[in-house]
Amino acid sequence: MTQLAQQIIDAVKKVLPAREQYPLHEPTFTGNEKKKLLDCIDSGFVSSVGEYVTEFEDRVARFTGSRSAVAVVNGTSALHTCLVLADISTNDEVLVPALTFVATANAVSYCGATPHFVDSNETNLGIDVPKLEGYLVKHTRIRNKTCVNQQTGRPIRALLGVHIFGMPMDMDPLQALCDRFHLKLIEDAAESLGSYYKGIHTGNFGFAAALSFNGNKTITTGGGGIILVNDEKRAVLAKHLTTTAKTSEKWQFSHDKTGYNYRLPNLNAALGCAQMEMLPKFLIRKRQLAKNYARAFSGLKGVFLMTEPEYAKSNFWLNTLLLDKPDAILLEEILGRTNDAGIQTRPAWELMHQLPMYKTCPAMDLGSAQSLVHRIINLPSSPSLLDIP
Ligand SMILES: *Cc1c(COP(=O)(O)O)cnc(C)c1O
Repeated sequence: MTQLAQQIIDAVKKVLPAREQYPLHEPTFTGNEKKKLLDCIDSGFVSSVGEYVTEFEDRVARFTGSRSAVAVVNGTSALHTCLVLADISTNDEVLVPALTFVATANAVSYCGATPHFVDSNETNLGIDVPKLEGYLVKHTRIRNKTCVNQQTGRPIRALLGVHIFGMPMDMDPLQALCDRFHLKLIEDAAESLGSYYKGIHTGNFGFAAALSFNGNKTITTGGGGIILVNDEKRAVLAKHLTTTAKTSEKWQFSHDKTGYNYRLPNLNAALGCAQMEMLPKFLIRKRQLAKNYARAFSGLKGVFLMTEPEYAKSNFWLNTLLLDKPDAILLEEILGRTNDAGIQTRPAWELMHQLPMYKTCPAMDLGSAQSLVHRIINLPSSPSLLDIP
């Protein structure tokens, strides 16, 4: 048994209020959630028609500074729709980090396209841009303003970047890279509601972006997601595609495309409206919690707490400890001991290129991602863990 596991338990307990269990991230319902949900039931508007859907979209658009927001059933369907909007289809490749939640890669597969896995950096856990640039220079060629993978002969049309655990990627170099290689930039901002890059909310940098409101995210609608777009036409198309591509005739059930039934029900949107009222408070608490963790972990050897880069403001969705060196055995021991003590810590996801369905996909050298999965320990990060008003 190593000392470090006990030291981590002690540090966490110093920060958190006395409880039996500390979930990784639990929802907080201390606002108008019940009132607005009852309002849906009383009015009969519980399904895909209702005023809360529009109100929720407006609130998220205003908060993020995005021109439009289109609410959908979850973050995965939001990602899928972003890729459909970008015309991603069979035979295309999309660059995706290997270090991400499976939904990022799945969304590419839903389009019949192939995820092409890229490496991450340890500063913000996002895509390693200089390394990717070197790789693309070596392995692709630009033909008719299209980046072609020389190995597979397929076009690489887009890059789907992820703001991991709410920590914003460094967007300027990433955008420059996408411009240089004619890649559409799409942001998986599922974890980054309330995170900013140089003062601009994440999700506003590319062609389109997806947010998630799953039960474990910063705010929740039960299940839900939103598509952010800054182009009016694209926003109209996103709404159309996600509402079964129904045409606007008065009675007729007519559809002009293969659309999707991705609409967020009014019930979920009502929950979302109440949660949006609480969001600024959640973010203040989460920032304070991160500060308290930073203090508690500052003297500890062998591990360090990730901090936000100077260009960014993180929502601190999850607070992340990094082991100084990759050590699978030590990591397993720390996860075991902390969870036994009621502290729900979690590792990173299994890397995408190791999953059976993605084993044969193209991938660059993934050395950093491979090392990071044996270093990442996420700590309990719910806003309810801080008793400030
Ligand atoms: C949560 C999450 C998603 C998917 O969101 P769902 O609402 O669960 O479908 C996608 N990408 C990342 C990085 C996520 O964390």
